[in-house]
Amino acid sequence: MCGIVGYIGNKKAKPILINGLLRLEYRGYDSAGIATIENDKISVIKNKGRVAELDKVPGINDLQGTIGIAHTRWATHGKPSTENSHPHTDMSKQIAVVHNGIIENYSELREFLQKNGYTFYSQTDTEVIPNLIHYYYEKESENDKELKLLKAVHNTCQDLKGSYALEIISSLLPDKMIVVRKDSPLVIGKSATEKYISSDIPAILSYTKDFYLLNDNEYVILSKTNADFYDKDLNKFNKPVENIAWNAAAAEKEGYADFMLKEIFEQPKSIRETIGSRLTQDGTCNIEGLNFTKEYLESLNRIYIVACGTAMHAGLAGKTIIEKYCNVPTEVDIASEFRYRDPLIDEKTLVIFISQSGETADTIAALKLSKAKGAKTLAVSNVIGSSITREADYTIYTHAGPEIAVASTKAYTSQVVLLAILAIYFAKVLENKKYENEIKELSREILELPSKLEEVLKNVKPIKKFAKKVYTEKDMFFLGRGVDYTAALEGSLKLKEISYIHSEAYAAGELKHGPIALIENGVTVIGIMTDKNLVEKTISNVQEVITRGAKTLIISNQDLGDHKFDNVVTIPETNPLISPILSIVPLQLFSYYISKEKGLDVDKPRNLAKSVTVE
Ligand code: GLU
Repeated sequence: MCGIVGYIGNKKAKPILINGLLRLEYRGYDSAGIATIENDKISVIKNKGRVAELDKVPGINDLQGTIGIAHTRWATHGKPSTENSHPHTDMSKQIAVVHNGIIENYSELREFLQKNGYTFYSQTDTEVIPNLIHYYYEKESENDKELKLLKAVHNTCQDLKGSYALEIISSLLPDKMIVVRKDSPLVIGKSATEKYISSDIPAILSYTKDFYLLNDNEYVILSKTNADFYDKDLNKFNKPVENIAWNAAAAEKEGYADFMLKEIFEQPKSIRETIGSRLTQDGTCNIEGLNFTKEYLESLNRIYIVACGTAMHAGLAGKTIIEKYCNVPTEVDIASEFRYRDPLIDEKTLVIFISQSGETADTIAALKLSKAKGAKTLAVSNVIGSSITREADYTIYTHAGPEIAVASTKAYTSQVVLLAILAIYFAKVLENKKYENEIKELSREILELPSKLEEVLKNVKPIKKFAKKVYTEKDMFFLGRGVDYTAALEGSLKLKEISYIHSEAYAAGELKHGPIALIENGVTVIGIMTDKNLVEKTISNVQEVITRGAKTLIISNQDLGDHKFDNVVTIPETNPLISPILSIVPLQLFSYYISKEKGLDVDKPRNLAKSVTVE
């Protein structure tokens, strides 16, 4: 995820592009760049770092072009660096492209192009795009230059798997720009003699209120005065202009009241990106960057998963799956504890570290300690090139897109999905026949998660209603067994973080060993029940608190029999191993609505920072 901006008109493009990029920096900002065309020649200026630094690069103010494209990158493939920054050009430097999204099949496309004489200068997935356009342009028999380029872009898009919003300029067609999108946002603002292109409306709302809202697989040829629209088969069509009356701040959140809510609702998409091409319907599982051997995995006597906060809760959910399918004892440890307790680690230990930002101080220290003791280390992070990924022997990325709200939501679900895929990968390397069918079923269930999440997100009303009822409470309890206990822990943390309500999560069976003494008339208890084998047990525990006067909210995908509960949120059934990915969503929403009822700053809760870079 990143921001893209474009301009065609009579004014100098550079200031408009930089201004747009500054407004899009919230979408990701590890590097930035712009390209303009002057005298039929493309000029590219790009730089690692923020947009303000790009604006200081010598020569940038000399760009006189009145057509240009620009990008603020949030790396998914290849570390943040000047060479990996966008725009990328084809080998002949006649075509420049900025891209928002992920090209899942880029390595095979890159190989194909290399075989056809193309050279690559970056590690990005994006660089295949301008080269593939060039490849098809050269092959195209069409005489009209404009249609020839459009067809080359269209042919290229047929080959791309993944998500993309693209702006394409070319010295072959110096007064026009082609844009297209699939599963990544792109809008076009217009006036009579100018076109503004952007990832979101607010970045260009100060220039115009008239917009074309592009849909997936629609192609547009833009000039100063015209916008020609083509559908997925390149049939021309007319697109209506929409007048946008939003205010800029609201629009940055794409209409959501807060980033947290936006990120909660983004989860079907972020999980799709996490799965990417790692798992397929026919049961293959490949994780880029991993090359573990059967011998190495068989030699392991222990796996540790080390993390802090929400990432640690993701680790707890992942532990069960990894332990089961690798048949290696797997322990989850809090990084700040692990680093000071001289853990038992040697070369037969694999240590997995999870950090959304990749900059968590305690996790990095624990990683260094593990390496010093001879263990192999594997980082799970959302940020390309972050410290943890530079230290670890192996890295896998969640690709959840930038998370702006301090309380983590989509990073958590992506981490759990990725750990589940990792467990499947380990089982495949180990040639674990015992669980072959189970693993197939689990893979299928993982692939269905995005659509099941969409279903969960349609059922917001009962959660909002319950939040309204209990937002003034001082204490709450979360109960669950097995994986539901891990979801309970994360649900309870969310509540503390953004609503400042004290809460505790308990393994439901632990209730009678102490905490039940706290249950009195009117206390709020949230029960999570998604495992067929444990549902009856948890029901009994919830009955025990109801008997003592508790108000309850039940999150379940099970048949609750004749038991009558007041507030039940039903979620779709899935493999219990991955059910926290679905059951956490109502809990995220519950915390969110409580925080809103209390009038708190949801995105920036007190005392908390997004990335904990100190001990
Ligand atoms: N996948 C591309 C890259 O890593 C684009 C990332 C983005 O959307 O910023 O360069």
